[in-house]
Amino acid sequence: MKIVTLSGDGIGPEIIQQAINVLRKIGEMYGHIFEFEEYLIGDIALEKINCSLPEETIVACKNSDAVLLGAVGGAVGVNRWINHPTGDRPEKGLLKIRQELGLYCNLRPAILYPQLKNASPIRQDIIGDGLDIMIVRELTSGIYFGKKLRTNGETDETTFAIDELYYNKKEIKRILEAGFNIAMKRSKNVVVVDKANVLETSKLWREVTQEVAKNFPEVKYSHMYVDNAAMQLVSNPKQFDVIITTNMFGDILSDEASVITGSIGMLPSASLGNGTLGLYEPSHGSAPDIAGKDKANPLATILSAAMMLRYSLNLEKEAQKIENAVIEVLELGYRTEDIFEKDKILVGTRKMGELVIGALNL
Ligand code: NAD
Repeated sequence: MKIVTLSGDGIGPEIIQQAINVLRKIGEMYGHIFEFEEYLIGDIALEKINCSLPEETIVACKNSDAVLLGAVGGAVGVNRWINHPTGDRPEKGLLKIRQELGLYCNLRPAILYPQLKNASPIRQDIIGDGLDIMIVRELTSGIYFGKKLRTNGETDETTFAIDELYYNKKEIKRILEAGFNIAMKRSKNVVVVDKANVLETSKLWREVTQEVAKNFPEVKYSHMYVDNAAMQLVSNPKQFDVIITTNMFGDILSDEASVITGSIGMLPSASLGNGTLGLYEPSHGSAPDIAGKDKANPLATILSAAMMLRYSLNLEKEAQKIENAVIEVLELGYRTEDIFEKDKILVGTRKMGELVIGALNL
C-alpha cells in the first residue's frame, strides 16, 4: 500500500516520523507492506521550490492509497511570503491539496479519554467520564472558497472587502449523507449546525437536511444555531454525538471541541471524498514554538494514521490496535508536556512514539 507523507513544517517531520514507525510495526505484525514516499508542501515547499503545492506532490497524492500530513505553516504572525509574485502562502498548499483530491468531508473526532479528564478545562460534573463527539465538517466549499474582493478606495466607504458564502445543493447533500452514514455506525443522533436565522445558505442546508434525513429514518436529527452550539459545547457537551456543519463553522467548533478534550495534540482528523483515497492529519498546526525540541505530542498524528487504516485501507482491526495502544500508554501514566499533570511521567515526542509501539505488543 502506497502512502504519501507530507511532513510539512514546524513539528510536522517529528510527528510524522513517529506515525511511520508505528505503521511499520503494524505492517510487520499483520503482514502488510506499507511504502512511504515523502513530498513537499507548505512553507518548506515555498522555500525549496517557490510553490506551496508542487505539481509533483499533487500527482503523487493522486496515485497513492492514502496521504498522511504533518502540518503546514510558518511562525504565527510572520508572513515571509508577503511579496510572493502569485500571492502564494503555505496555507494555500493545504487548501489546494484538499480540493485537488476532492476531499469534501472532514471528520474530526473530539474524544476526551477518561485518563485525561483532568486536562479538560471543563468542570468534572459536566465532563463525567469522558466525551466522544464526531464533528463532520464540509471542506471544499463555503466562505473559504467563495469569490473574494478587496478594494482600496479613496474614502472609508469605498475601501471594502467581500468574502462570498456559496453552497450548492450537491455540496450540501453529499456532506449530509456522509454525516448521516457515520451516525448510523454510532448512536444515530445528528445535530446540524447553521445560522438559518440570517443566512440563505443555512436555510438551504435545512431544506436539504430534511430531504436527506428521509433516507435515514433511524437517525434522530435536530438543527442548532452556531452561536448556541458554541455555548452548548462547553455547557452540555454530552448531548452531542455527530455534528454536521459548514466549512467555517466546523473549523471554529472543532477547535473549541479540541480544547474541551484537553489538548489539541490528541486530536486526529480525516478528509475523505467519494473514493477510498483520504488525507489524514492531526487537527493542530505546525507549532513553531516547540518545533525541533522533541516536545510535540505525536498522538494526534498516530491516531490519524489509525483513521487512515480504517477509512482508506479498510484495516479496522489494525486501526483499533493502534487506538488501544494509545489508551494503554495513557493508562500507564506517560504524558507529553501538553497533557502533563502531577504524578505522571513526562516524555518527549520520540519516547511517546516508542511507547505506543511497545504497547502494540501487549
Ligand atoms: P498550532 O496548533 O500550531 O499551535 C497552537 C498551540 O498548541 C501552540 O502553543 C503549540 O505549541 C501547541 N501545540 C500544537 N500542536 C501540538 C502538539 N502536537 N503537541 C504539543 N503542543 C502542540 O496553532 P498556531 O500556533 O495558531 O499556528 C502555527 C502555524 O500552524 C501557523 O502557521 C498556522 O497557519 C499553522 N496551522 C496549520 C494547520 C494545519 O496544518 N492543518 C492548522 C492550524 C494552524
